Amino acid sequence: MDFRASSVRSILDLPRRELTERFAEWDLSPVHVARLWSYLYWECVESWGEMEELPAKVLRRVEAEFHLPVPPVAREAHSADGFTRKFLLEQGDGRRIEAVLMRFTGRATACVSSQAGCAMGCTFCATGQMGFQRHLGPGEIVAQALHIQRILRREPAPRGEPVRLRNLVLMGMGEPLHNYDSVMTAVDILRDQSGLALGAARITLSTVGVVPGILRLAEEARPVHLAVSLHGATQADRAALVPAARKWPLDELMDACRVYTTKLSRKIFFEWTLIEGVNDSEDHAHAVGRLIRGMPAQVNLIPLNPTTGYDGAPSRREAARRFQDILAEGYGLPSTVRQRRGIDIAAGCGQLAAPEA
Ligand code: SF4
Repeated sequence: MDFRASSVRSILDLPRRELTERFAEWDLSPVHVARLWSYLYWECVESWGEMEELPAKVLRRVEAEFHLPVPPVAREAHSADGFTRKFLLEQGDGRRIEAVLMRFTGRATACVSSQAGCAMGCTFCATGQMGFQRHLGPGEIVAQALHIQRILRREPAPRGEPVRLRNLVLMGMGEPLHNYDSVMTAVDILRDQSGLALGAARITLSTVGVVPGILRLAEEARPVHLAVSLHGATQADRAALVPAARKWPLDELMDACRVYTTKLSRKIFFEWTLIEGVNDSEDHAHAVGRLIRGMPAQVNLIPLNPTTGYDGAPSRREAARRFQDILAEGYGLPSTVRQRRGIDIAAGCGQLAAPEA
C-alpha cells in the first residue's frame, strides 16, 4: 500500500497495550500481538509480506486496519570522520524531517525529531529559523528509531563491535514538550521490553523550557532524562536567544526544574550553547553557577554550530575550559563540553532543518 495515499492509521502509533485491546475486540489471540510486535520492533520488518508466521486472517485484519510506514530517505549524508550519518526522511504528507545516527566506540545513538520545524524560534537554531510546520505522530517518531536500527542491523559497526541502538535523544527538529502526548507514546513504544527495549536511563529529552511540560513530566514521573536549554542566566539574556523565555520566564522555569529534581530525585542536564562574546565570559559562568547551585545538575556546554540565519561564532577552547573551571571550583557543578560531531553535514546541535520537497 502507498502509505502517502493512505488514510488508515499507522501501526507504529500504537503502544502494545492498545494493540492488545484492538486484537481482543476482533477476537484475535494476544499470542498474535506478541508475534506481530516482535516482527515490528525486533526484526524491524518493512512490509506485511515478511510476517510469514502470522495466520492469514490476522494478517488480513491488520493490513485492513493499519499501514506500516517506512519513510523514504530523500537524502542521506555521511560525515567525513565516518561517525555521523544524517537522514532526510519523507513523511506521508510530503513533509520532511531529519534524524541522525551517531556512532561511538561500541555504541550508537539516534537523535530523532519530534516536530516538522519548530515554533520556539531560538535565534541560533536552523529548525527555529524554518518555523513550525506540524507535530509528528508517535509512529513518525518511532519510525526514525526503527530506520536507524535497520541500518545498524544491516551494516555492522566499522570496527565490528556488536551494535544495537541503545541510546536515543529527542534533540532533533522540534520541541518535544510542545508535542507531549505523541512523544510520550513514542517513548512507551521504544521502551517496550519485547521490542527495541531502550532503557529509561538511555533516553534523553531536551526542552527549551516549556514549564507546563516539565511539571507534567515530574507529576507523571516519566522515565526519561531531562535536558533543559538555558543559554542565558538572566531573563533578558535568555529571552534574546530563546523567544520562548518570554512565555515561560526564567524564574518560573527554575521553579519547575526544582519541582522536577525534588519530586523525582533526578538530576537535570542544563545545556548552554557557547557563543563567543555573547554568553561565554567569566561573569556568565558565575551567573550560571549562582542560578543552579544546590540543584542536582550537570551543565553541557555546546560550542555554537554554524547556521545560515545566525551570525555568531563558537567560543574558543580556552573560554570553554575557563567556564568549566568556574562551574566546578566556584559552585561544585560538573560539566562537559560537547564533542563537535557531524558539523560538516549540518548534523550538529541546532543545525537540523528540512527543505521542502
Ligand atoms: S533549539 Fe530546539 S526548541 Fe529551539 S528552535 Fe531549535 S528545535 Fe526548536
